[in-house]
Amino acid sequence: MTIADNIRRLRQQIPDHVRLICVSKFHPADAIKAAYDCGERLFGESHAQELTAKYDALPRDIAWHFIGSLQTNKVKYVVPRAALIHSVDSERLLAAIDRCAERNNLTANVLLEIHIARESTKHGFAPDEARTFFARRGWEQFPHTHICGLMTMGTATDDRTQTRAELHQVRSLFDELRQQCALPYFTELSMGMSDDFDIAIDEGSTMVRIGTAIFGAR
Ligand SMILES: *Cc1c(COP(=O)(O)O)cnc(C)c1O
Repeated sequence: MTIADNIRRLRQQIPDHVRLICVSKFHPADAIKAAYDCGERLFGESHAQELTAKYDALPRDIAWHFIGSLQTNKVKYVVPRAALIHSVDSERLLAAIDRCAERNNLTANVLLEIHIARESTKHGFAPDEARTFFARRGWEQFPHTHICGLMTMGTATDDRTQTRAELHQVRSLFDELRQQCALPYFTELSMGMSDDFDIAIDEGSTMVRIGTAIFGAR
């Protein structure tokens, strides 16, 4: 199966209202170019240096999505290049992004990452932390940043019932916070990867982040 075959097959399974982020981390520019030539324009990277190198090497009409764990000292590389940062896992990082956006005279678009998985290696706001943040209108402290929604990763498991329960929980949280904050740009729910994007779409995802099923193993 070529990259083009994989994309054709995936496109048949992803409804039009759900955006496909092609996760290209660790794959070379020519793999990205193959997906680009199929019409794909949204690519996901998880390392600041790799994003910077690919940003410079590849066409300017690509929208780069940053999906990896982000250290505050790398924010300056990511904010000017990323259309959306999915992986904001602390208020400290949010503050660093906001300062950087102000310096660059732009508005940063971000998602808050929600920690729902059982693995402690995964990052993000616990659901109640996110509730507290929204209840006190936390976004008002960050005028150069738009919080555009939530992102999550379920537990890595073959138990699809557990995956569905976790993603459903984040969908409910998303609906609750969206109603509460009434921000016009709080519209995105980023969940679903190669192994669970079908469940994620069922549960209301607006963006799936797919790497392996397009580009093969990393
Ligand atoms: C790598 C990665 C993906 C893509 O995972 P696949 O299983 O290869 O589709 C999605 N989201 C995040 C946050 C990732 O780090």
